[in-house]
Amino acid sequence: MLSIGFVLPPDIGNFKPFRSQPLTSLYLFTILEQEFGDKLSLSLIDLRGISRENSRYYLPEMDVYFYTLMSQEYRNVCEVKDVLCSVYPEAKHVAGGVHVNLFPEDSSQIFDSIVLGEGDETVVEVVNDILNSDLKPVYQKSESVDLNRYPYPDRKYLPVPAVVETGLLAGDYEDLPGTSVLFSRGCPFRCSFCANVNFGPTRFRTPELIEAEIEYLKKEYKVEALALKDDNAIPISEKIARPFLEAIGRTGLKWRGQSRANGISEEMVRLAAEAGCTDIGIGIESVCPQTLKIINKKIELEKAKQYIRTLRKYGIGARLHLIFGLPGEPDDIVYRTLEFIDEAEPKSVLLNLFCPLPGSDIAQNPESFGIRNVSPDWHDYRNLYARFDREEQPQMWFEYEETTPWGESMSNERIIGNYSELQTILRERNLNF
Ligand code: SF4
Repeated sequence: MLSIGFVLPPDIGNFKPFRSQPLTSLYLFTILEQEFGDKLSLSLIDLRGISRENSRYYLPEMDVYFYTLMSQEYRNVCEVKDVLCSVYPEAKHVAGGVHVNLFPEDSSQIFDSIVLGEGDETVVEVVNDILNSDLKPVYQKSESVDLNRYPYPDRKYLPVPAVVETGLLAGDYEDLPGTSVLFSRGCPFRCSFCANVNFGPTRFRTPELIEAEIEYLKKEYKVEALALKDDNAIPISEKIARPFLEAIGRTGLKWRGQSRANGISEEMVRLAAEAGCTDIGIGIESVCPQTLKIINKKIELEKAKQYIRTLRKYGIGARLHLIFGLPGEPDDIVYRTLEFIDEAEPKSVLLNLFCPLPGSDIAQNPESFGIRNVSPDWHDYRNLYARFDREEQPQMWFEYEETTPWGESMSNERIIGNYSELQTILRERNLNF
């Protein structure tokens, strides 16, 4: 029997390291089990929440180790891999994920084999080759995977407390036991700060598969609340949105997700509310039209305000997602943001500090955005300060040229000052998410 361990690396600083389900590894294990049955022994090596220093004491021996990594996790993953190589020198190491796709040559030097593109089909090929002692250095899949060919991810590889948690929803629904789900992949937009631009067009699971997964979670885990991790939990196309929302609605659960700020009709908001939606996060990012244009956000602020009002009309709380430190941001951004918040009255605000994540247009072409001195230390990157420890001092991992294509820039000190000022006001108003 071939033993495979999927390494979930030590926590990269999030104050709730178990908040996100490791859905990729669960998907891949489910596919492998379906394909190979008892020829494989599959385990998650879950190091989340364990410090880097202590992670070496939690590394079981396996024939093969899998990794899927983002650039922020790169250092921690490499450290774990080095320890594994020294204590279990015969084992093979196979990696995929965003970082490997961005830096295939470097990654090839580190891992025995790398997987480029989506791994759902390739993982079967990789394991077949390992069983035949013929592991290749690179596997590449350029076409997008048909999500509906595969079963929903089995959660049995995780202990129950790592699947179910309370506090996913707010207010009256805070105590409901819940978990995370993902019913689609991809996003049709191309915001220049976003690293989520890989792997082809948006694809959705069928309503039947959506319903089957939720019914499984209800039966096996007594789940009553869901966090949809989809980039667009209310799909833009009504033809897709209607059956998608109706399928969730038939299960009777409460849920939250995120959606575009523009282009969702009142009818779809009504349907989402009827389907159990309690909160929607909206990525407005900035209330400055110039910045929105520079980052290719393609939203209109007046329409976003109207959308927030429509959500409120149907009892759905709007959570505003904002980023400070984006290109073209004006000096009076705190004032302008508060003005927007007062007019739109969102239920909560998630304020982040900008970081040029590898894979994003800004990180790939910093000079076009007036950016210099981008730190190569990815492991220090934070793009969600709002969700990190309150004691942690915000930092920036780049600076702006003094004069940029849109005029004079702000210093890092000033940007961080604005960020801290608004964060304090949001906390005082109990608006902070
Ligand atoms: S920020 Fe959101 S809308 Fe923009 S590309 Fe990323 S996922 Fe899509």
